[in-house]
Amino acid sequence: MPSARVLIDGPSELVFDYAYPQDLPVLPGCRVRVPLRNRAASGTVLSIGSDQDLGFALRELNALIDPEPLITSQLLELAQWIAHYYGSSLESVIRSLLPEAVRNEENSAKTRKSVFLLKPPSNDEISAIQRRAPRQADILQALSHEENGRLFLTDLPQGSSATVKTLVKLGWVTIEDEEVRREPDADSQEELIESQPLTLNAEQQLAWQATCEAIDSPDKPLLLLGVTGSGKTEVYLQAARYALDQGKSVLILVPEISLTPQTVRHFKSRFAACKEQIAVLHSHLSQGERFDEWHRIRRGQARIVIGARSAIFAPLLNLGFIVVDEEHENSYKQDTSPRYHARDIAVLRAKKESCAILLGSATPSLESFHNARQGKYQLLRLPHRADGQSMPIVRVVDMRLEQQKQKNTNTIFSDKLRQAMEQRLERGEQSILFLNRRGFARSLQCHSCGHVIQCPHCSFALTYHRTDERLMCHVCGYQAIVPRKCPSCQDPGIALQGYGTQKVEEVLTKLLPKARFARIDADIMRKKNTLRDTLLAFKAKKIDILIGTQMIAKGLHFPNVTLVGILNADIGLHIPDFRASERTFQLLTQVAGRAGRGELEGEVFVQTCTPHAPCIQYARRHDFDGFSEQELEFRREFHFPPYERCSVLTVRSTHERRAEFTLQTLHRRLAETPPPHMQISDPLPSPLIKSHGQFRFQITLRHPNARALTRHVQEVLKKTSLPEDVIATFDMDALSFS
Ligand code: ADP
Ligand code: ZN
Repeated sequence: MPSARVLIDGPSELVFDYAYPQDLPVLPGCRVRVPLRNRAASGTVLSIGSDQDLGFALRELNALIDPEPLITSQLLELAQWIAHYYGSSLESVIRSLLPEAVRNEENSAKTRKSVFLLKPPSNDEISAIQRRAPRQADILQALSHEENGRLFLTDLPQGSSATVKTLVKLGWVTIEDEEVRREPDADSQEELIESQPLTLNAEQQLAWQATCEAIDSPDKPLLLLGVTGSGKTEVYLQAARYALDQGKSVLILVPEISLTPQTVRHFKSRFAACKEQIAVLHSHLSQGERFDEWHRIRRGQARIVIGARSAIFAPLLNLGFIVVDEEHENSYKQDTSPRYHARDIAVLRAKKESCAILLGSATPSLESFHNARQGKYQLLRLPHRADGQSMPIVRVVDMRLEQQKQKNTNTIFSDKLRQAMEQRLERGEQSILFLNRRGFARSLQCHSCGHVIQCPHCSFALTYHRTDERLMCHVCGYQAIVPRKCPSCQDPGIALQGYGTQKVEEVLTKLLPKARFARIDADIMRKKNTLRDTLLAFKAKKIDILIGTQMIAKGLHFPNVTLVGILNADIGLHIPDFRASERTFQLLTQVAGRAGRGELEGEVFVQTCTPHAPCIQYARRHDFDGFSEQELEFRREFHFPPYERCSVLTVRSTHERRAEFTLQTLHRRLAETPPPHMQISDPLPSPLIKSHGQFRFQITLRHPNARALTRHVQEVLKKTSLPEDVIATFDMDALSFS
């Protein structure tokens, strides 16, 4: 008898094998009903096998729920690839692929009783009925006023059901169960006016044409490198239109739905005329809404899907075009198992389903840019702003001088930035203040000369570990004691420094008492709609100065903003992460790109204690090519991505020693029979050594081949039995080293 491996619905994620009769068309991806202990349950078929060599009889599954598999064979193949590549279980991948909302039958389609008019009554008939049975006539008339002769039973006046039953008997109407869509934005008051396509400028035209050609005959992935404000969105929109016109469906990935309201709105209003074909997948959907949206996509009713990371698994039919907007964003990487990168999966899905894919950014990841340089991707460029405006002027302010001048080692505002803000207030223009708060791992910096204590072997900042008062290198394991004075200038003012958005607000209140300002950070964001309301108020010029963290760095377009202040460009530069420079460059470029997007010229102040850091200087000149050239050289020399794959093995436990000991054991075994060319770091405490009450230790592993690396680590993990309270996680292509 054939057997099916079934992932049972529900939080415990059980997997069991069931036998089934030969003639039942069970396929991977099918939904089935199965017996589970003494109850019935539903589940998803992961794979098909045979019960022959088991030596015992399997229970039989009860029934197929859907006649066809819910997961397409292509997506199932993708799932298998992900499981192998990232070293995660197929079950965990299927869980991502088929959301709980879809697997759980309790969310199944909602129906309501509808009354359908079978034949429209003539005026004579109505008058005849009116005399005899006025209530019947009322209902018939109400129905014939409806465009498709249909009303929900509940929409008729109370007590109509008896009358409707009579009308059914008389052959005027029928009652049917009709599926109603739980529409996500049904209660939103926002009115969408269809936006008209803009006339593309010459550069956009070229990018658009190349994209349309790719939609017609997909070849390499396209990388669209367009400076901030170059009109990438318009290219996405018009290429999406082209794909739809060819009868194909379109998938738009954005970093985070709630942080990119403008991009989503652009799509919604451009396709307002066919808005029932758009599905927006975001984290605030109810289970029922998610179920309905998913099935609308699966049935081909929704042909434009906009969503964050997990939308890469949207079951679109006849997929013709994928856009990955802001492709460099870290949020495309899932930080729990399976730790997939949605951009990379998108590239693979495009290949498997033979569709066009466009990765867009003003600051592409070096991984993607490297692929373009090697000819694996086709590079498209938009080097100028779409409205003909020049790029904002970026001024780098040396905070070491400011601190001496103001005799304060924790100066927040330089004189120049303060003056610029005052000037904007007088002119009625708006400003954005950006506070970089990336990473909690802290480095030591001298306030007098700006020197940062670095590893002598790796050219990375050493990380301060409070527990044992030491500095550590997270790449090679080098350790040092905390110096009492700066090794470079002998000044004793070497310290850990930092401040938050609240502090900025506090200081600003004193500095500019007349200014109206608002703060956007994670604390504020917890309340629903706060972000949207704040952005709307800012757009309406009810706020002069917007203070924010990473959240305001993305895709916002405010024409009246002429000043952007980046308060602490250094934080994030000296964290133990080989991408620190790249991230800083991206962030400065993106934030600076918020300035001068209207008629008025923009100005950006970058406050830093390391004004000569290359990433700051390249960002000042808007020079992506210069930056990537130098940074790629460094990556090659030190064997970092994109030249090699980098992964992290983390072990955590509430018992510190047990976690440390387990990692040491794993480290020994990993180093015993490594695949050739593997580089392995020492076992070290994670920068975030204690999190959620658990102690964390980690190893970094690098190898030119991802699969070889994953296989090696999986083999060692399989052979090593971990103590009960110790958890090991493996992160392939890791983006976070904390
Ligand atoms: P990006 O996403 O590349 O940062 P946007 O898509 O936000 O840039 O575009 C910046 C501005 O330029 C928007 O206001 C957009 O409406 C405008 N724009 C885009 N394309 C054109 C065009 N061809 N002609 C005029 N304005 C354009
Ligand atoms: Zn080192």
